[in-house]
Formats: sequence, structure tokens, C-alpha cells
Amino acid sequence: MKDKPVRKLYILPFVCLIICAVVFGVYAGNRFGEDSIEFFAMDTYCTAKTNGAKAEKVNNSIKELVKKLDADVLSRQNESSLVYSLNENRGGPITEIKDYLEVMNKVCRDSGGAFDYTLGKVSDLWDFGGNPQVPGDDALETVLSSCGADKVIISYGSVSFPEGLSLDFGACGKGIGLDEIRDNILDEGGIKSSVVSLGGSILLYGNRDFTVGIRNPESITGYVATLNLPACCVSTSGNYERYFEENGKRYHHILDPKTGYPVDNGLVSVTVVSDSGILSDILSTACFVLGLDKGMSLASKYGCTAVFIDDNKCITASKALEGKVKINADSYTLRFQ
Ligand code: AMP
Ligand code: MG
Repeated sequence: MKDKPVRKLYILPFVCLIICAVVFGVYAGNRFGEDSIEFFAMDTYCTAKTNGAKAEKVNNSIKELVKKLDADVLSRQNESSLVYSLNENRGGPITEIKDYLEVMNKVCRDSGGAFDYTLGKVSDLWDFGGNPQVPGDDALETVLSSCGADKVIISYGSVSFPEGLSLDFGACGKGIGLDEIRDNILDEGGIKSSVVSLGGSILLYGNRDFTVGIRNPESITGYVATLNLPACCVSTSGNYERYFEENGKRYHHILDPKTGYPVDNGLVSVTVVSDSGILSDILSTACFVLGLDKGMSLASKYGCTAVFIDDNKCITASKALEGKVKINADSYTLRFQ
């Protein structure tokens, strides 16, 4: 009978210790551990998973940067963005995006115009994000005749272009976001590793290997293949990302600049691996438009590797990816080129 109060006294310090350990664990987890964040920006679903000191703070900075880059610089819809203002005024100063525009122009030339960031008005006609419809041939022809990166003049930190042409960063904005995150947030130090996904573009950051899945075009979840990669950027362009169906035919958002119609070359998706975010994003779109052979040459010209998936369930990867690609779905075949 007399023992009971004494035992209680012994238990109390242990209970306090456990509470302290849990409280410290949560605190330390926040300061030194892992943190994940999800948000919507650039018209897509974004995530960041960061490991290292102040992971939560870093993820919040990533979210802020992406939202600000979209709202203040790249958005075609936001009336206070730089790109909106350029499109309204047929040009203007481009300090913040000059280097990016030069990369875009270079790939535009090297891809023979397959990548064309001046198709904004053509995308508007299709209206994939709003009330999608197949445009009339006359309207398409008229709008298409005003497009073309050769009509864009960059000189002394300013850009100018004719009426009817509209800049569209849809095929490279997410990649630009990844470069900005790496250079302005993660390179500041204290980060062990981070995986940032802005729609179809992913940044792998840290001194380790990562496994990235290539989405199964036939389902929202699941992967047809996985890639084992060191730190880099990986972008995928797919015909399943944004599309609508009319009279049994699928119309998707990656356009052939020659016709103004969705590219119809048997490809389902193209994934490009690069050290640069903007290059991975631009090249995934350009390679999709060019098709397998020309696309593969373009990717290797830029020192990048690529994975093409066609509608015969054939996966073709760059030779340099041998040993790094693993097939994850029985019905698909894998070859290297
Ligand atoms: P992505 O998902 O990176 O391939 O980008 C697709 C987006 O880029 C589309 O939603 C359009 O805004 C834009 N786009 C479509 N076709 C082209 C093209 N041939 N060249 C450049 N941008 C394009
Ligand atoms: Mg792209």
C-alpha cells in the first residue's frame, strides 16, 4: 500500500522526459528535418520536398518565388505582369527576362521553328484552359500569319514585335522557375536535398541520386518507367496534360507552328534531362514537335538526354541513359538510340 506514491514519483520525470523529447523532435524536425509543401501556381499543381536546415522556411520561399515570378513576370493573363505588358504594348524593356529570351530564340532557330514562343494568339483560339474548341481554318490562318520568332526584335535590353503576335512562356516558364529556385534559394546553402515539381518540370537538388517516374499516359497515377539521376532538371511534355475531345478526336495543347494544329506524330510524351531548367522545359516541347529522330538530335546537340514514348507503347531513350532507365509497365518496350 505504502509503495504506490513512491512509484508515481519515479514515473513523473520519465513522462516529462518523453514530452520534452516529442516537443524537441517536432521543433528539430522543423529546423533540421524534412518539410513538404503543395500549392497551385503557373496554372498547375506544384510541390516541394526539402531536407535540411529550415526546410519549412525554404519551401515557403519556393512557393513565394514561383507565385511572384508567375504574377509579376511570366503570366499572359495577369494585367500587372511583364509579359502581359509586353503583349499589350508590342514590346518594351526586358531586363529580367533578357537572358531567357535569348535561350528561347536560340532553340527556336536550332529547332527550325518547332519551338515557337510567339504562338500565344493561336493558343487563345484553341482556348485549352477555358472553353476549348477547334478553331475555324480562316481564323487560324489569319492568326498564324502574324506569328513567328523571326518577327521579334531584341535590341539594347528591349524587345519589339508587330501587332497580332503574343509572347507565350507556357513551354518554358516552369523551367525558368526551377532555375530561379536553384540560383536564388537552394544555392544559398543549408539544404541537404530538395525535389521541386512545377507541373511537368522537376528540379532534383542535392548530392545524391534520385528516382523520377515518367507518368503513365493512360492513368493519372502510376509510372511507365523510372529514371535514376543525379541532381538535374527533368521536364516532360505530354499530349495527356491538357486536351479536349471533339467528334471522337483528341486535341491537345502542343501545337505545330506550321499548321497551328496539335502535333500529330505518334508521340505521347517526351522527357528531357538537363542541368538547366529552362533547357529541359523548352527542349521537351521542341522535341515533342520535332518527333523522335530530329528531337533526339536536338537534345544531344544541347548535351541533354531524352526519353520518347509513342502510341505503340515503345519507349526510346538516349544511349547515355542506359542503366538509368527502368521499365515499370509490362505492356511497354524499351530501346535506346
Ligand atoms: P509544355 O507542357 O512545356 O510542352 O508547354 C506547352 C505549352 O506551350 C502550351 O500550353 C502552349 O502555351 C505553349 N506551346 C504550344 N505549342 C508550342 C510550341 N510549338 N512552341 C512553344 N510553345 C508552345
Ligand atoms: Mg516545355
